[in-house]
Amino acid sequence: MRAALNALTDELKRLKSSGVKSVVVSDESLATLRKIVQARAVAAGGAKNAPIPATPVPSRGAAASAEAPATPAKKAEPLPTFQPTAKPFTVKPLVSAESENFPPAPKVVLPAGDKQTRWNALLQLVLNDPVCKAHVRPGKKVVLGVGSLDAKIFFCGEAPGAEEEEQGEPFVGPAGQLLTRMIQGMGLQRSDVYIGNIMNWRPQMPTPAGGVQIGNRPPTPAEMTYCLPYLKAQLEVVNPDIIVALGATAVTGLFGAGSFKTLGEIRSQWKLFAEKPVMVTYHPSYILRNPTNRSKRAIWEDLLKVMERASLPTSEKQRNFFLEK
Ligand code: URA
Repeated sequence: MRAALNALTDELKRLKSSGVKSVVVSDESLATLRKIVQARAVAAGGAKNAPIPATPVPSRGAAASAEAPATPAKKAEPLPTFQPTAKPFTVKPLVSAESENFPPAPKVVLPAGDKQTRWNALLQLVLNDPVCKAHVRPGKKVVLGVGSLDAKIFFCGEAPGAEEEEQGEPFVGPAGQLLTRMIQGMGLQRSDVYIGNIMNWRPQMPTPAGGVQIGNRPPTPAEMTYCLPYLKAQLEVVNPDIIVALGATAVTGLFGAGSFKTLGEIRSQWKLFAEKPVMVTYHPSYILRNPTNRSKRAIWEDLLKVMERASLPTSEKQRNFFLEK
């Protein structure tokens, strides 16, 4: 068990040194960790040194900082019985070898018919795609976009995360809840727009054998190339007036690796993809990491441009959002 904890600690250190500031830990993973730590504390003669608190339990999907100081448990829970596993803790390589060895990207041909018929056919294609299925761990879901098929605005993110692969719907975790609030700030509902991703599956992180995946990694170019026809097919069905590319990975997925140096350089500009205007802006997770009025205002100004181009009314209140320091 010590080996397992050491491997987990090493992985967190590796993520931290590669610039990852936070990891998403589900309640399930926290419960597992807590059991391990408490069992170890009991073996060592007391629970008070257990570095993972029994309470409070962060809500599902809460970003847990790799740097957060350990809080001692206030009140010990009844200790669960813990069965150490005989299996050694193995860490898979960050990008599996097969991920760079993809079959050619699928040719998506949709049937004739109305939008719903075509979208339903697309959903079946994606859900039955053997490559998509092979990249989703047991019990998790392949994810296609969601929303109005008559949407004028099509938000394009990066890839499903933990909550998304669980529910089979894009942007339902913390970044998704923020995106929903941004859409509401524009005077719209989530159901008025379409929300999709470059990727249809959550890019795999190295995990202990059969273990819980912690954190997200950006998709590789090969993965994005494979999924792009599915994004294009969604654009073909929805036929929006405007695409909003959320973050650097979405921009890379749409325009290719090397199409820009930094997001800051091309943010707030109009580009063209599949003959549609694309507004490039930050990913909502950027705001989650930098919740300042300055960063909120930056993304909001991009959305004001989108509203203007979509001929959506803007009130003075909306125009002044996040102006105060
Ligand atoms: N981030 C994304 O880019 N897409 C999602 O669906 C969720 C989080």
